[in-house]
Amino acid sequence: MIRYYILQDDPTTAGNGSKVIGAFRNDTNEDRSLALEHDEVYCGACESAGKIVCVGPRLSDTFDGLEAALSDDICVCKCEPAPRLINTTQNMFQTVTTAEIVEKGGDFWLDIHPQNEQFTLRDQHTRRPLANVHYRIKTKSRTILQGVTDANGKTQRVATASLAALALEVIHQ
Ligand SMILES: [Zn+2]
Repeated sequence: MIRYYILQDDPTTAGNGSKVIGAFRNDTNEDRSLALEHDEVYCGACESAGKIVCVGPRLSDTFDGLEAALSDDICVCKCEPAPRLINTTQNMFQTVTTAEIVEKGGDFWLDIHPQNEQFTLRDQHTRRPLANVHYRIKTKSRTILQGVTDANGKTQRVATASLAALALEVIHQ
């Protein structure tokens, strides 16, 4: 699965003007602050203030000690079930497809260039590209390609398949 980063003003499944209102920090994407766990969310369905709680599989990515909020994290308010956060941008995301990826690769961060379907592998904390890392790009059933990231941390381009079906696995040697 692909989980997208949540930003200030991103909505929730509750509708009625529900959105993240408490994200104010210097870490931004497209000039909007990244949302983190515990940030405040206005819920238009129950007309109360909710908080972001991080749920589901993720690659830990913390800012000031707090996990980045991802699509499908929940807004804990008075609603049952809790509304889920909806991303409005797609250029910053994590690919969390299998337990394998979590087990083997907790300590990296992915971003992607949607136009040319290429992964960039970065250090989770410094955001520096990770060169010379062995990787596999897989679908559910097979490995599409295998290689080593270049000096800029980039993988080869993937010409086929929908991105949502791809997983990147780091091979530790
Ligand atoms: Zn609510």
